[in-house]
Amino acid sequence: MKNAKYHLECFEGGEVITDRYTNTCPEGHDSLLRTVYKRKRIRRLSGWGMFNYIDWLPVEETLPINVSPITYKSDGFGREIGLKNLYISFSGYWQEKSVFMKTCTFKELEAPPTFQRAKEKCEKILVVASAGNTSRAFAEVSSLTGMPVVAVVPRSCIYRMWTTTEPENHDSIFLISRDGDYSDAIATSKEIVKIGGLIEEGGVRNVARRDGMGVVELEAAFFMKVLPDYYFQAVGSGTGAIAAWETFIRLIEDGRFGEKMPRIVISQNLPFAPMFSAWQDGRAEIIADKDMRNAEDAIKKMYADVLSTRNPPYSIKGGVYDMLASTEGKMYGITNEECMGAKKLFESEEGIDLDPAASVAVASLIKAVDEGFVGKKDKILLNITGGGYKRLKKEFKMYEIEERMEIKSNSLGQLPLDEIERELKEFVKAL
Ligand SMILES: *Cc1c(COP(=O)(O)O)cnc(C)c1O
Repeated sequence: MKNAKYHLECFEGGEVITDRYTNTCPEGHDSLLRTVYKRKRIRRLSGWGMFNYIDWLPVEETLPINVSPITYKSDGFGREIGLKNLYISFSGYWQEKSVFMKTCTFKELEAPPTFQRAKEKCEKILVVASAGNTSRAFAEVSSLTGMPVVAVVPRSCIYRMWTTTEPENHDSIFLISRDGDYSDAIATSKEIVKIGGLIEEGGVRNVARRDGMGVVELEAAFFMKVLPDYYFQAVGSGTGAIAAWETFIRLIEDGRFGEKMPRIVISQNLPFAPMFSAWQDGRAEIIADKDMRNAEDAIKKMYADVLSTRNPPYSIKGGVYDMLASTEGKMYGITNEECMGAKKLFESEEGIDLDPAASVAVASLIKAVDEGFVGKKDKILLNITGGGYKRLKKEFKMYEIEERMEIKSNSLGQLPLDEIERELKEFVKAL
């Protein structure tokens, strides 16, 4: 391990761990693991996309995938809300700015290092559960690289499953739909991995996902030359914001970008905002009866339903609560109406359409300015986590991914595991 590029460390217990696609602490701590990279001063290489930051990605080799977010200084929108130093990180599709994420969200930064890490460390097939944007990103990367993936998506979100690559490239994608919501999809994926040869992608616990998203902050730091005073993002799980925190810590250690930890400001879409509710109440735990009342109805009412995570990594060590506490962070709850207003203003000033979730972050920034929480001259990094669907649609055809299986929950809540196993074996054989 002495010569390894990185190792993992348990946030709670400090155990040093050799990475074997390890997503949980071997000592049993309920804590995130973090990557510790040998190289403390990060290089920005001059090849393709996000792998230019391979120093701080938990992989040995790159994938030939040209995705990267971009940072620019806002003119129109910043001026409109009275900010002199508003920097925008954009993940999505925006050709004029040379951002080419064909699934239009920052989930596309999570998929490539995750596939590569799985290939290098365990050689098993990844199983991903999501409300759509994550699975779509994994499907796109799978269709480009031929690396297989099993994606489990709630039926109501299946319309989000498309790629810009033609259907003959979909052979490496095994798409399963099921009834219920995001949490049901997760439960199903946990059952499915009991079949041999498969591995849970890992969600927030997967360091490749978090460090992949950290590329947003790396790109911003190289553009801004200094860390921002505030970082704004809309959260569902909070994985992206935890990633931002971890990356800021590394950038401070790097030494070239200042010493001050940015204050991390996150936002959720009301009425379903469990972390917002718990944080407002000063609690480190989410209490379902208080923070998630009428969850099903509340989720249906959300404008940005990709933010509807029911089991966010809030209390886990190294998770959202720790992040907010340690960065003097803040949380906003944003109404649908506030989203609409923010979306309209942003789109007319910046000239790009937003993913609904990104409009939650934009609205939170408007609120923070109105309240005087941020100053006119503060350096602010606003993470626009998704957008550019309209432009993408103009330039590309979108190909729906065909379902291989449809799972209905029966009264016992049992899955037809035998049947799934049979189908999966056929799938693997045909690869
Ligand atoms: C998933 C997603 C988010 C929330 O990210 P988390 O890491 O789950 O908090 C925000 N915006 C968009 C566009 C997303 O797809």
